[in-house]
Amino acid sequence: MKTKSVQQVLPPPAPHMVGDGFRVHNFFPSGYNMDQKRMSPFFMMDYNSKIDFSPRETPRGVGVHPHRGFETVTIAYHGKVAHHDSFGNSGVISEGDVQWMTAGSGILHKEYHEEEFSKKGGEFQMVQLWVNLPSRDKKSKPKYQAISLAQMGKYELPENGGIVEVIAGEYNGVKGPASTFTPIEMYNIRLTKNGNVTLNLPGNFNTGILVVEGSVKVNENESASQDHFILFKNDGETISLHAEEDTVLLVLSGEPIDEPIVAYGPFVMNTHDEIQEAMDDFRMGKYGVLED
Ligand code: MN
Repeated sequence: MKTKSVQQVLPPPAPHMVGDGFRVHNFFPSGYNMDQKRMSPFFMMDYNSKIDFSPRETPRGVGVHPHRGFETVTIAYHGKVAHHDSFGNSGVISEGDVQWMTAGSGILHKEYHEEEFSKKGGEFQMVQLWVNLPSRDKKSKPKYQAISLAQMGKYELPENGGIVEVIAGEYNGVKGPASTFTPIEMYNIRLTKNGNVTLNLPGNFNTGILVVEGSVKVNENESASQDHFILFKNDGETISLHAEEDTVLLVLSGEPIDEPIVAYGPFVMNTHDEIQEAMDDFRMGKYGVLED
């Protein structure tokens, strides 16, 4: 097996606010003007690096908005997010949990700091990914996968090196609970200082690792510290990681979807006509109803 080498270690781009509740670094596609398919099937990654929110009675967040044609995956590291949608679903994403929402044919939702968290304030750290769907699945029925930390596959690394929490895909025979439309490997890896882990991922999978906490040595030569994103070339299978301190990593790897992308605001489709249709359907109320 050949090493999957590092293309670039990207520092966090300047942050912007999404609503008043999320202060995010957009690593792709816009942060570095990356090709829209460079991380396919991952279309977008917004990273709310760790910040302290002051206590507030009225929760901060993002009001009602639509999505169509992809999935939103929210991964909570610190703080809690509540959500509601136009199909009557609601829930809370707590620390260590993942919410995998298939917007598919179309949904309205809102995302806010959970009430008690908002009142107390405190550390907040999240990732939201937009995972693209292949054209055959873009209009599939909306659904949720609420994946709690307890449900994740867990692989204990030797020599107390830490733990691999498998969200999707499989690590060393341990499977993740998320069902995906295209092949995806997604793990949280919690390494103790000097812990080691080796990943074997298909050579053609687009792959990146976000350093959520700590710092790592990659393939014995490159270092990446907290809040940096390691973008890999598609030139091999093996990645070795060594924690220089206690470290948390989010590993993203997936089979590229080789289809045209036309994205506009909250819609990710294949053609301009489909974007027009998505906007028309939104105006006609076809995504359902949700109160602000
Ligand atoms: Mn949203």
